[in-house]
Amino acid sequence: MDNSESQSLYKLAQQVIPGGVNSPVRSFKNVGGNPLFFKKGDGAYLFDADNNRYIDYVGAFGPLILGHRNKEVVTAINTQLEKGICFGASTEAEVEIAQQICRIVHSIEQVRLVNSGTEATMSAIRLARGHTGRDKVVKFEGCYHGHVDGLLVKAGSGALTIGEPDSLGVPSAYSDLTHVLPFNDIAAVEEYFENFGNETACVIVEPVAGNMNCVPPIPGFLEALREQCTLHGSVLIFDEVMTGFRVALGGAQSIYGVLPDLTALGKVIGGGLPIGAFGGKAEIMAKIAPTGAVYQAGTLSGSPLAIAAGLATLAIISEQNFYEELKLKTKTLLDGMKEIAGAHKIEFTTNQAGGMFGCFFNDDENISSFTQVMNSNSEHFQIYFHAMLNNGVYLAPSPFEAGFVSIDHGKEEIEKTLGAAEIAFKAIKTSRKK
Ligand SMILES: *Cc1c(COP(=O)(O)O)cnc(C)c1O
Repeated sequence: MDNSESQSLYKLAQQVIPGGVNSPVRSFKNVGGNPLFFKKGDGAYLFDADNNRYIDYVGAFGPLILGHRNKEVVTAINTQLEKGICFGASTEAEVEIAQQICRIVHSIEQVRLVNSGTEATMSAIRLARGHTGRDKVVKFEGCYHGHVDGLLVKAGSGALTIGEPDSLGVPSAYSDLTHVLPFNDIAAVEEYFENFGNETACVIVEPVAGNMNCVPPIPGFLEALREQCTLHGSVLIFDEVMTGFRVALGGAQSIYGVLPDLTALGKVIGGGLPIGAFGGKAEIMAKIAPTGAVYQAGTLSGSPLAIAAGLATLAIISEQNFYEELKLKTKTLLDGMKEIAGAHKIEFTTNQAGGMFGCFFNDDENISSFTQVMNSNSEHFQIYFHAMLNNGVYLAPSPFEAGFVSIDHGKEEIEKTLGAAEIAFKAIKTSRKK
């Protein structure tokens, strides 16, 4: 496959952009080789700078649930463009999208729009601290909540010890306030709360973890978080930036029936334009400026263009059977992959939550912990990734990213993907014989 144009762009990019990418997940650091440059998207397909066509399972890392350039979304953006790009003041569309979010996401009574998922989680945490008057924050190993200082923290040496910075530039004064617990470990949560519950401002969690590949909660995990937070007066924050409008219309909270106090949103809700949102109980949300004393602001917050794209997206995903269809497409894909892997005797398993999925080169059938994810075979993933790419399937260039199916992925695309998987699994088998 010719990708000379991508290669020369990558060379130029590296001179003026650190690592040649504007977000590290776009690099090929985890898989080897150089990142591709893209110039066009159409439905389920991406076209790179050399005109190679790929079936896209990245979906811009989540937002593109309707595929690339959905007609209604493009029309809505164009219509808004004719009226104005931004006003730095309130608009009717803002009210409309807020009403819809409050109607669709059961735990949200009031919502504020921001410009990214990172802003949403950062603001939700500040609000939780302001509301409780406490400083400690709990997060889980393998969960990602954007590049917020106090959340770029990894587990310390013991489950009950404070976290350690996971990036240079994060002062230990921040990481000291963040406790990192193992995801899906109910006992660890209970033990933590016994010790520090009354000092804890909030627990933030991805209700279906999507940044260590795709790991759904085990039965009772989210319930335990709810119970402990209620018992100790801590705020429960669901980071549904990825899962919101993705695993189901009402997000993971609608599937698992556990309601957080605050929810962070992003990705799908902007239809591909930059957006974030956080919302929840009116009593807590009232503590944000200008009604309350927790400061939070944004010049471009509530961008009319992003809202137009978001409203157009919401109209389509609210249609009956949208998620049934999306779920079925995803299941067909995963069932096919497992069958092929089985035929080639490759240790392989999958997780699915609505239109979101995870593939693991692992002989454990049920992947529910960070440790299991980390124990997956990364060499097999590398071979698989490059074989898929060479056969027209674009996957996230990392074994730790979830995959996304869009409503534009049809029978033909899924069959083609399985054809590529056949080649990829064969390549893995061959590599093992050496
Ligand atoms: C993507 C993501 C974020 C960060 O959103 P950005 O828009 O990239 O800042 C936060 N939380 C979760 C769960 C995400 O998947």
